[in-house]
Order: sequence, then C-alpha cells, then structure tokens
Amino acid sequence: MNPQVVWQKTLNKIKEEVSNTNYHGWFSKTEAVGLNDQKITIAVPSAFVAEQLKMRFFSLIDSTLENVLGQKLAIEFKIDPAKFAKTSGEEVSDFTFPQIESAPSASNNLNSKYTLENFVVGLSNNVAYAAAAAVVQNPGISYNPLFVYGGTGMGKTHLMLGVGNALFNKNPGLKVVYCSSEKFMNDYVEAIRNHKMGDLRTRYRSLDLLLIDDVQFFSGREGTQEEFFHTFNELQSKNSQMIITSDRPPHEIAKLEDRLKSRFQGGLMVDIQPPDFDTRVAILRAKCRERGEDLSEEVLKLMASTLETNIRELEGRLMQVLQVLKTQNMAPSLENVASYLQSPKKTAAPLDQKRVIASICNYFDLNLKDLTGPKRQKELVLPRHIAMYILTEEASLTVERVGQILGGRDHTTVMHGRDRIKKLINNDREIQKILIELKQKLLS
Ligand code: ADP
Ligand code: MG
Repeated sequence: MNPQVVWQKTLNKIKEEVSNTNYHGWFSKTEAVGLNDQKITIAVPSAFVAEQLKMRFFSLIDSTLENVLGQKLAIEFKIDPAKFAKTSGEEVSDFTFPQIESAPSASNNLNSKYTLENFVVGLSNNVAYAAAAAVVQNPGISYNPLFVYGGTGMGKTHLMLGVGNALFNKNPGLKVVYCSSEKFMNDYVEAIRNHKMGDLRTRYRSLDLLLIDDVQFFSGREGTQEEFFHTFNELQSKNSQMIITSDRPPHEIAKLEDRLKSRFQGGLMVDIQPPDFDTRVAILRAKCRERGEDLSEEVLKLMASTLETNIRELEGRLMQVLQVLKTQNMAPSLENVASYLQSPKKTAAPLDQKRVIASICNYFDLNLKDLTGPKRQKELVLPRHIAMYILTEEASLTVERVGQILGGRDHTTVMHGRDRIKKLINNDREIQKILIELKQKLLS
C-alpha cells in the first residue's frame, strides 16, 4: 500500500481523538515517506516534534495504525526539516542570529535570576518547557511566536526570561527586549504624544528577540493592537523570535482583534497547568537548595500538600516559614512546620467516592445514569475509565467495589479501564490535564 494513503487514513482517525491544537501542533506537519511490511517511516520537521510524538502520542499512533492496516508495524520518525521548510528560502537548520559588530558590553533588561536551569520541570509544565528548549535550539524558525498561557504564578514569566537569558548567553550581541504589555502600551501612547513613532518602530522592529508578557492586557486597546500587529509582522518576516505570555489562550482574550488572535495561534501554543503534588515538592526542594536551606523530605511534602498551588505563593509561604522558625530559634521539624501551617500532620484523607463521581460528571457534563449506564459511546467511555482509575488508584477502592459503584460492571472491566488510563498518563497531554484539573477540584 501507498505510505501516504495509509498515513492519511491514520491521521484522519487521530484527528478525531486529539484536540485541534494538538493536531495542528504535532500531526499536521508529518508525512509518510516509507512503508514496508515491517515498518512505516514518518518524516517530521524537527527532533522536537519527533520527541513529542513519541512521548505523548505513541500509543495512539501505534494503535490507530494497527487499526488501519490490520497489522502492527514499527514506527520510525525521520527528521527532515528541509521537507517542511517554507519555500521563501528560509534556512531551517542552521539559522543564527546576525552578529552585531563589536558587540557592546553585554546588556539587556532581562532579570538574570530566571533561567531554564532553575526552572523545575514536572507534569504540569513539561510541554511548555520542551517548547522553550526547542526555541533556544532553533530561534525564529520553528515556533514563532511561542505563546505560553496559564494562571497567575505558574511560571510563565520565569520560562520566558529563561529562554531570553539562554539565547542572550549564546549570543551576547542579541538585541532582546522584555516588555510587559503595559510597557508596550505606555511606550505607544508616549510615542504618539511626543510625535516619536519613528523611534518606537526602530526600537521594537529591529529586535532579534521580543518577549511580551501578559498580553491579555492588550484587550480593548485598539491603537496598541494595531501597532503591535505591524511590529509582529515585521519581526516574524525577519525570523526574529517572539515569545508571548497570557493568562488565557488567544481566543479567550476579549476585545482582541481577530488578526492578532490568528497570529498568536499561528505559532506554537502551550499551556502551564497548576503544579501537581510532585512538582510542588520538587519546586520547594529547589527553592530551599537555592537558599542553602535544608528541609527534610517529610517537611517538603507536608508543605506541598497543605499549601496553595500557585507557585508564587508557595514560594512566599516557604520563605515565611523559614523566617519565622529562624527568628523563634525553632528547628524546621515536621511538628514545628505543621504547627506553623496550622494544620495537623495529616495524611491526605481518602477521597470520597461520591465526590469523585460527582466531579467527573460535572467535569464532562454527564449525568450519573450515563456514567454508570450500559452505553459505550466514546464520550462516556473515557470518563468511565477515568473514574475507574481515580477510584482504584487514588481512593483505594477494590476493583470489585468500583465495578459495583459504576453500575455493576465486572472487575476485569474496571482493571482494563484503570490500566488504560495508567498507560495514557505517561504520554497523553489531554489525559494529564484532565487528571490534574480533576484532582485539583477534589482536593480543594
Ligand atoms: P507567572 O508569570 O505565570 O505569573 P512567574 O513566572 O512570575 O509566574 O513565577 C512565579 C514565581 O514562581 C517565580 O518566583 C518563579 O521563579 C517561580 N516558579 C514558577 N514556576 C517555576 C518552576 N517550574 N520552577 C521554579 N520556579 C518556578
Ligand atoms: Mg508573569
């Protein structure tokens, strides 16, 4: 069979399984370039895409292919940037920023405290981190703009500055500006008032790297948006990298021009989720280490389980605790920290099954009858499997009991559902996101 035909059929099915963003981000730039009875070879534009496909979507690709062909094949990814390069003659692989002759003493307005090295990577931010790392490898080309969104205190600014600092260290002649969207707005208003639009344009449009933070504040600012639109186009046409952050995805920003929305969506969009427990522990550990503080694992875990999920607050509370204990001359023992946090030393209470079921119904907008009933539509099966997973793994119920709760299902069915989710957790971003959000609701 023709590899392209096989792959197209596979892609058509995959499209129904993943979100639009994921499809366009990872699958739309793939092409089958070889097929024999052992393996299929898929060309992809970069090592990053190959890695993402392997890490997050391998089992989906594998099973869908098997479904299309009626047989299992090995899957090989071939990195072939030239194949996907635009015809405008842009060089994909060995692009470098133009060097400025006799570079001035290294200067920029980036806070050098925020680096990619001290950005802790976990389930909630690994995709955003991987995208950031890819931008450092290949600025201006693959993911332009990189659009990072997520709630406040989740590490968007840190990640953006991490990329800026990494690129600047690679090339100290780099012209880079970090700019809150308010600053851009103010600069624009100033420039109009002082008849200095020319200066403003020279300043922003000659950059190699522009970091725009919290772009949601452009909402309703028509003049600013107009100016930014032209800045954006100019920078993009020169392959100058842009990184943009926002507290929400572009289509949810009110009063933002459609043409800007589509520009923002045209690069790579990645989100940062609230940190899960393990990531919170890892962040606390890292912050302690940075300050030369030594807290036991037990204490770190206690703090991670009782404190807010916003990383900024998490960090703030950690500092407070350390400070208070120090001034009172108390050792940072589990007891002392627990009493400070005013929460008894507790192991998380077991999840209540009714709440689990209610949250899942609520999350997927289902009623209880659908979830526990016999129907087997795709929209019902995934929530059901997630219920099986959470009830067995997190609420520690037996598979038999979970079978009963879910409308009298056999325990082997429960095991199957639970195991499916267990497998998907490792490589399926959608599932990861669903579970993080559900758990957040359940623990709050
Ligand atoms: P946002 O821009 O999303 O509101 P910030 O980037 O300002 O959040 O992060 C808030 C604080 O949390 C900063 O001090 C930052 O260093 C810290 N932080 C956030 N994410 C991480 C992370 N993954 N690893 C280490 N520190 C982090
Ligand atoms: Mg920020």
